[in-house]
Parts: sequence; C-alpha cells; structure tokens
Amino acid sequence: MKPFNFKSMVMKTTNFSKFAQLLLFCSAIIFIVTACSRNPVTGKKEMSFTSEEKEIALGKSYDPSIQAQFGVYDDAKLQNFITEKGKQMGKISHRPHLDYQFKVVDSPIVNAFAVPGGYIYFTRGIMAHFNNEAEFAGVLGHEIGHVTARHFISQQRNQIFAQVGLIAGVVLSQDIRNNADMFQQSLGLLMLKFGRDDESQSDKLGVEYSTKIGYDSHNMANFFNTLKRLSAKAGQTIPTFLSSHPDPGDRYNKVKQMSNEWQAKVDKNTLKTNRDSYLRMIEGIVYGEDPRQGFVENWNFYHPELKFQFPVPRGWKHQNSPTQFVMGATDQKAMMLLTLGKGNSLEEAAQNAATQYKLNVRESRKTTVNGLPALAMISDQQAQQQQQGQSQQQGQQQQQPTPRILTYFIKYGDLIYAIHGMAMPADFDRYFNTFNNTMTGFKKLNDPDKLNRLPERVRIKTVTQDGTVQSVFQSFGIKQDRMEEIAILNSMHLRDPIKRGTLVKIPGK
Ligand SMILES: [Zn+2]
Repeated sequence: MKPFNFKSMVMKTTNFSKFAQLLLFCSAIIFIVTACSRNPVTGKKEMSFTSEEKEIALGKSYDPSIQAQFGVYDDAKLQNFITEKGKQMGKISHRPHLDYQFKVVDSPIVNAFAVPGGYIYFTRGIMAHFNNEAEFAGVLGHEIGHVTARHFISQQRNQIFAQVGLIAGVVLSQDIRNNADMFQQSLGLLMLKFGRDDESQSDKLGVEYSTKIGYDSHNMANFFNTLKRLSAKAGQTIPTFLSSHPDPGDRYNKVKQMSNEWQAKVDKNTLKTNRDSYLRMIEGIVYGEDPRQGFVENWNFYHPELKFQFPVPRGWKHQNSPTQFVMGATDQKAMMLLTLGKGNSLEEAAQNAATQYKLNVRESRKTTVNGLPALAMISDQQAQQQQQGQSQQQGQQQQQPTPRILTYFIKYGDLIYAIHGMAMPADFDRYFNTFNNTMTGFKKLNDPDKLNRLPERVRIKTVTQDGTVQSVFQSFGIKQDRMEEIAILNSMHLRDPIKRGTLVKIPGK
C-alpha cells in the first residue's frame, strides 16, 4: 500500500497559518477515506487522490495543450499505425475499458510519455529512432503500463501545476497563440518523473503487453541501448526514460530476462519484429530540428515561417521547439525567451503580461525596433508572499528575491512578439546590454537562403554490396562527423558487417 504523501505537502505549508494547515490536513484525510481503490495491475488496495472519472477528465484537459505545444505530426499513416497498435494493446491490458488515445507529436526529442486517463504520446524523434515494430511495441507497453498501474496516482499533485513562471506561454506558432495559458500545465507534465519502482513495473508491463500482441520484446531491451548511446552523445537531451535510471544496463538485462520468461509461455516462432515494414513506413519522416519552425545559425535565430530574425548572445545555450525559444547564459544567471504577447495593442499585451506573470512595472516606454512599433518595459516579478496576499507576520518575514525583467513587445505583421530577459536584481545590470542587444536586433527576415530551408528526412536505402556499416554509410555520402549519429539512428555499430539488400536509414532532403 502506498501511503499518501502529505508529509511533504504539510512541510510546504510552513508559510500558511495554523488554521490553513489544519484545513489542509482535514481535507487530505477526507480525500483518502473517499478514494481508496484497488490497483488494476497489482490488485492491492491503495489510496488514490482521484477517481477514474477525474483521472480521465484530467488527461482530457491536458491533451489539447500538449497537441498545441508540440503540434501533431502531419502523417496519417503513422498516426493510424500507432492508434491501431495502441488500441489493440489497450484491450489486452489491465484496464481494457479505457478509451486510449495515441498521437505522434512534432518534436525532434527522442521521447514518449503518458498522461492520466490513457493519453499517450510519441515524438517524431522517437519514431525515427525505432528500428522495428517490436521496439515501438515495447515502449508502447511501457507507457500503457504507467496508465494501467496508475502511477500518476502515487505522484499525487507533485509539481504538475507548480511554478513554471515565465517559461510558460512561449508560443511560436500562429494557430496556437490563444492557448498560452495551457502550456503551463503541459510543460510541468513533461518534467514529470516516475520513481525507479514505477519505471521497473512499466518495463515489466511493456514486456508482457508487447508479447501478448505478438512482438518479440527482446527488441525493447535493444532500444534501451539506443537511448543509452543517444544520451552518451554530447548535447543530447536525456529522455525521461533514462533520467531516473542511473543504470540503464541493468534495465537492459532485466528486460531480456523477463522476455525469456514470457516467451517460454508462448510459441516463440509467432513473435514478430517487423523491421523492413517499419522502416518503409517511416520513410520521409522529418529528422532532427525542423528549420521551418526556427533555427539558430551563426548566433542568429531565424524563423522562416514567421519571417523574423534576431541575434542570440554568443555562447549562450538555446532550445527551440515548435512552440518556444529559450536562451540561457552559461552561468545560469540570466535567461531570455521569446513568446507571443496577448492583446490587440502593445499596451494591452504589456498589461496582460503584467497580470499573467504578476509583474510590478518599474518603467515602460514606447519605441521602435528596426522600424517596428515597440514597447520596452522593466518590471520585477512579485514575491510569493505578496502573490498569496498573506498578512506578513513579524519575525517570520522572509522576502525572497525575485527576478527583474526587461521586456520588449514588438508589433510585426498581425502578431505582437514579447522577448523577456530576466535575471536577479543583483545580476540584472550586468546583463542589460546583452538583453537589449538581442531585443533591439529583432527584424524582418528577407534572406531567401534562410526562408527556404528544408528539414532533413529519413530516407530508406537498400545496401547494394556486402561491407561494413561504415563503408555503406560512406557510399551513401555520410560525412565523417555524422557517422556515429547515423549508426545510432540505425541501431548499428560502424564496424559491424552488413549484407547486401539490408535496408538502412540515411538522412537526406
Ligand atoms: Zn516510464
């Protein structure tokens, strides 16, 4: 039985009055009494903080914001494939009555994730990195496992709704500009991590479920190797799969062993891997960053679809997705981000930002940026205590420092862009010029070379001659500095022999 973890909840309430603490405590108790149910996987009774109806409603409420944040990847056959396999697996799972929903989202990051109620997402990045249907089925089973074993329940409220602050609402696509509020939720959701026990249990369920729909789950273990190699490569975002697991090697062995056990119960010869058909299906999938959604080159950010550019501070880290562009100083003491302002005028956008992010405006003035109407504003984010409107008790007063923010609202086309630069007041002046330089560097993008950039796509090629993986990649024009990357993409090693007639993934335009 997993205890409801309200100790940490109560700990967090030290700023509340005694009365509030008591109230919280009581409501937690009422909650537990009314919501004790059996876990569908273990059969054990457990405290759950939510009913199944609420769980489903929660998932349903996240879904539009996740779709909006990443964009749904535009490929009907891929979407149909994951839905068909997902529904098939849902039916043989421990919660067959749930209405599972599956989507491929438009992100180059290699990841898959589930939200309560049976909503499951694969990135195009992970779809490009699977090398057969069985690898996909193993990860599908793992994610369905998080849902069937109700791992969200033991997560209690955690940080899903907690402070994401200004990072939220970073929107770079026109059709989603009205949904900025929702990103706060989904952003937190992606940071959601399960504990080691939950992950192990999901691995086990992944083996079970993928075997039951006819796949060889040894491939699931192989995919852990791909993840391991990816995260070992510098600059790769660590998939949530690995983040809570210091020893993926151990996980690999466990999954292999569990696969052997499950396969002793079925006719092994009927278990599928389906390599070639999977590769044929993903032919043409966008690989890596999609420049049409913005890219950085020579310390400039270019957005071909929205046709603007601005300088990125030299040496700063940056991260782009269809919906956000964030830049961070290497000392982690300052960051900037680009978002869309809400409102029909610069003043309205500034007003809305001040309200939404709880800013105390210190000064603001109208200006122009490369001929575009703009409004510059300096503000301080309100302290936590002020936000909660509490009466401050003497001796207990703990004013936490809050970031100071320079914002430029810039009107361009029918959109208002907001670039925020933030640092603690002690560091703010040191970063002011850097912020200002990027913000006042915002301008229209005219360069056809940047405007017409196309993404790389996975092309499926047939090996024409026996050789090594390295020699084959060379024959397909892979440059030396990308050899290891493409080897990982194919789940191969450069020195491995490879036979004529084998299909391989080669990125191309
Ligand atoms: Zn997991």
